[in-house]
Amino acid sequence: MDSRFQLIFSDNRKLFQPGTDLLVISRITAVDLQSGIRFGQIKFLNLYDKTIKGLHISIRCYSENNEPLEGIDPYEYKNISVPSSAVFGTNNTIVFPAQETVFYSVQIQKIIFSDGTEQINEKQADLFVIPDPIDISSDTECQEGIKDYCTNHNISSDRMKYKVQRADVIWQCACGGINPSRTNTCMYCGAHLGDLLFLSNPEYGKQIKNKKKKQIPHKLIKQNETSYDGIIEKIKEEQLRENDRRKMRITEIEKLSRNNSRKLGVVIGIFIICIVFLIWLFFL
Ligand SMILES: [Zn+2]
Repeated sequence: MDSRFQLIFSDNRKLFQPGTDLLVISRITAVDLQSGIRFGQIKFLNLYDKTIKGLHISIRCYSENNEPLEGIDPYEYKNISVPSSAVFGTNNTIVFPAQETVFYSVQIQKIIFSDGTEQINEKQADLFVIPDPIDISSDTECQEGIKDYCTNHNISSDRMKYKVQRADVIWQCACGGINPSRTNTCMYCGAHLGDLLFLSNPEYGKQIKNKKKKQIPHKLIKQNETSYDGIIEKIKEEQLRENDRRKMRITEIEKLSRNNSRKLGVVIGIFIICIVFLIWLFFL
């Protein structure tokens, strides 16, 4: 930042408002040392699958001692064009009405899309903090599983070192990327949520240890993404069912061959009777 400006507050925690696919990814407060004017800058991430062309937010301002000050309602981001998964907000300097402003909270009121639709956030709920990613690079079994998965699916495994986490409307990928819950495929690395949850399961770690390079039953994972235990149960069930099917097939084959040999016996019997009858006719 220019020496004319001084940073007085910054927060890089990621926040989301339930009901929207728009994330606040950082906030700062700065002061213009020449004029004494305090201003803020908010960085957003568009997780919608469409372009945002306008945004209305409200801002509550607080002093250094957390006393409420005059806020801004609404602040409008006009004439923007933010495609899906793009960051915006750094071009907007929000001048605070109160010179003592240090902290502030944000609420998303209205999002206007380029297709003419709007999303109005009537609930005015508070924003939630997205927990920091949990590093799992020390969990070698899980890492090994994810590495195999990445190799099989042509995904770079370098960034895959975080625990997969799910919150209300978002999920955090092993690459650290935050995705909206409407998609099961990571917008940043292309990994599948169900697969990653399966690979993060300690049960799978044991499987790798026992059976190295065992292929992941992809279809099964996609059918049941809600819980790891569910996935394991499903695999066991499927194996049992497959065993039953195999047994049934064997019994059917046996039955068929028994029927065939019975038919053959009858034909041979008739044939012998005919020969005997002909020989008998011959000697008459
Ligand atoms: Zn990812």
